[in-house]
Amino acid sequence: MEREIIDFAKRIFKFEEEDAGFFKIGNIYLVIANDMLSRSSDFPPKLSPKQIGWKVVTASVSDLAAMGAKPTHFSYSMGLNRADIPIIEELMKGIKEALDFYNMEFLSGDTNEAPELILDSVAIGFAENLLLRSNAKVGDVVCITGDLGRSYCSLLYLLGRVEEIEEKILEKFLKPVARVDEGLKLAKLANSAIDVSDGLSKELNLLANSSGVMIKVYEDKIPIREEVSEFCISNDLNPIDVALNSGEEYELLFTVSKDKLKELDFEFSIIGEVSKGKGVFLIGKETRPLLPGGWEHFSSR
Ligand SMILES: [Mg+2]
Repeated sequence: MEREIIDFAKRIFKFEEEDAGFFKIGNIYLVIANDMLSRSSDFPPKLSPKQIGWKVVTASVSDLAAMGAKPTHFSYSMGLNRADIPIIEELMKGIKEALDFYNMEFLSGDTNEAPELILDSVAIGFAENLLLRSNAKVGDVVCITGDLGRSYCSLLYLLGRVEEIEEKILEKFLKPVARVDEGLKLAKLANSAIDVSDGLSKELNLLANSSGVMIKVYEDKIPIREEVSEFCISNDLNPIDVALNSGEEYELLFTVSKDKLKELDFEFSIIGEVSKGKGVFLIGKETRPLLPGGWEHFSSR
């Protein structure tokens, strides 16, 4: 259903779908990212108010990172009910901690009464070179920062579906970090990028569709930590499926021409390649089309 709403908005407002909006002022792009999170969809009961605050900032900053923008300012609108009032101070401290971490300034805020906690954030940043999801080139290699799967496993634990989890898995979900420095470097070197907020399989499809290319991904190249594999095996899950569908990872999925690879001085994995055609294919023992799975808002309703 989220897809239909975006397509509807695209028809009415006539815009290209990217991680964030932007316009040029002189020689520089002003980049603006919105992200709305709500208690029932995004905050498992075990998440502390401070962790909620941190996450709200990271979610919108990650979209700036995916555009190659340097975050500078932050603003929010908050909906809350009376029962949420006691957590507000801690929540704001979480927001402040993240703003200090990303070196951003608080700009403005608005609060209103609502049936549940809703936090809508706006992160503003600047970019000299824009990194778009619509610019992947045939012949590029497909890469991803960091590792995938820990958020999905954490969610299973925080929702009470599994009883035990290692701290090393949980920490990424409790305190995710947007890949700002990597985004700034990629803006000069990569052809396209998108952040993994809704799961790798969905982001791969968005990247391939907006760029009008085909993407092939090798199953065994997807970066999955040992502890995630072990967690999956002991809970009867397929680690590849978990990595493909894990949302809120805030890693950057990007494509870059092979000759620029050696200039990338941060941790990343090469997982596939861009070719002529359309769609996304996963190559394992056999090759299969990879449809956009992952987390889509409204999908379960
Ligand atoms: Mg995004």
